[in-house]
Amino acid sequence: MEFAAHVNGKKAGILAEDFDLSAVVDVEPLPPVVTADDVVGSKDGKKQNGREIVLGRNVHTECLEVTEPDANDDFTGDKEAYMASVLARYRKTLIERTRHHLGYPYNLDFDYGALAQLQHFSINNLGDPFIESNYGVHSRQFEVGVLDWFARLWEIEKNDYWGYITNCGTEGNLHGILVGREVLPDGILYASRESHYSVFKAARMYRMECVKIDCLMSGEIDCADFKAKLNQDKPAIINVNIGTTVKGAVDDLDLVIQTLEESGFTHDRFYIHCDGALFGLMMPFVKRAPKVTFKKPIGSVSVSGHKFVGCPMPCGVQITRMEHINALSRNVEYLASRDATIMGSRNGHAPIFLWYTLNRKGYIGFQKEVQKCLRNAHYLKDRLRDAGISAMLNELSSTVVFERPQDEEFVRRWQLACQGNIAHVIVMPNVTIEKLDDFLNELIEKRSTWYQDGQFQPPCIAADVGNENCGCALHK
Ligand SMILES: *Cc1c(COP(=O)(O)O)cnc(C)c1O
Repeated sequence: MEFAAHVNGKKAGILAEDFDLSAVVDVEPLPPVVTADDVVGSKDGKKQNGREIVLGRNVHTECLEVTEPDANDDFTGDKEAYMASVLARYRKTLIERTRHHLGYPYNLDFDYGALAQLQHFSINNLGDPFIESNYGVHSRQFEVGVLDWFARLWEIEKNDYWGYITNCGTEGNLHGILVGREVLPDGILYASRESHYSVFKAARMYRMECVKIDCLMSGEIDCADFKAKLNQDKPAIINVNIGTTVKGAVDDLDLVIQTLEESGFTHDRFYIHCDGALFGLMMPFVKRAPKVTFKKPIGSVSVSGHKFVGCPMPCGVQITRMEHINALSRNVEYLASRDATIMGSRNGHAPIFLWYTLNRKGYIGFQKEVQKCLRNAHYLKDRLRDAGISAMLNELSSTVVFERPQDEEFVRRWQLACQGNIAHVIVMPNVTIEKLDDFLNELIEKRSTWYQDGQFQPPCIAADVGNENCGCALHK
């Protein structure tokens, strides 16, 4: 007997006699919607296990529902038209939101039109970048080219390094700290309080003992506190920030190494991971910055690809020493490769975007962009101070910290990142003087209404930025 099965109204094909399709494919493919009443142990559907989300709202009102295609849509094309209109509207939002973005360190200035032709391929670099796996639709040749570029930047020979292109800066930190722990299994993790939250996430994930070190006003690690907290009995794994998230502070790598040496740590008893997610690609071009190089006793460096570099999708680069990676790897027969990465499947498009932008800009191009960012950041800081607004800018940084705007609407409009009493603007290559002027004019105008032209005092933020940068009534 032959039979044709109909799934979703479409003919699924002719199947073998002894195969009963209805036993495997559900006749009613649309699952019912789960409501709060269905959730075991939840009465109101909001509070589960006594936990409430307080910071962000769990928003569903703006959600774009996924709906089942109509049986006759092939004919009417209604759904196609609906989806096209949703996408067109979304594109407009993206253009507007890109224009008003200042708070996060993403370089939104790029043109990857030439790569559009590649979106038809499922490019996946699963496994090790340096070992050919059986999956052929990959971009390893681009990946290794990019890694070599970074290896040269951080002064390590091709045969001495290992690395890969990650999904983000967080993955680089997770990897660097994992390598540190595999090399020094009973090591204690030291990180300054202003380290990115992914560092403390790594400590929780790996159940590592983690010691938080105090910071200077600038946001740099306080090496006096580091020295006081160092435990001589156990190896040390240290996260060094090449640009902190909130203040853009650059830890003094040389002083960290000196502190370790002075405390009696030989090079085989410590491992330094440099979190360069933010400024990892800016520092090499700033004269007075402490140099990140594998000529110093560091174990790994990571950087984000979607921040200063300007990739349109999250990605990052992680480089470590070849000698360390063997402590961590396992061979996987199924892949015919080695497993030394955090993730399994890896975005094969990202290396091509990185390769493309590195080729176009080169070291010289990045240097020019760094100069522009630092110049524009100084411009912003000076204009804020001229307007009587508390503001701080670290010498090696393009992150301008200033008093938190009173109005959440304004914060959202400019997509500022805030923490406590401070906010920041990170001046990236796409942030022009004109955009800063727009922002400043709007801020100054709004501010005069928030403080009723001087009837109310703006808050003192000396505790965050130091007396000399504070513009409050007491410190100005
Ligand atoms: C952004 C950032 C990270 C994390 O990078 P993601 O790509 O967002 O995961 C880590 N460290 C610092 C200092 C950062 O600024």
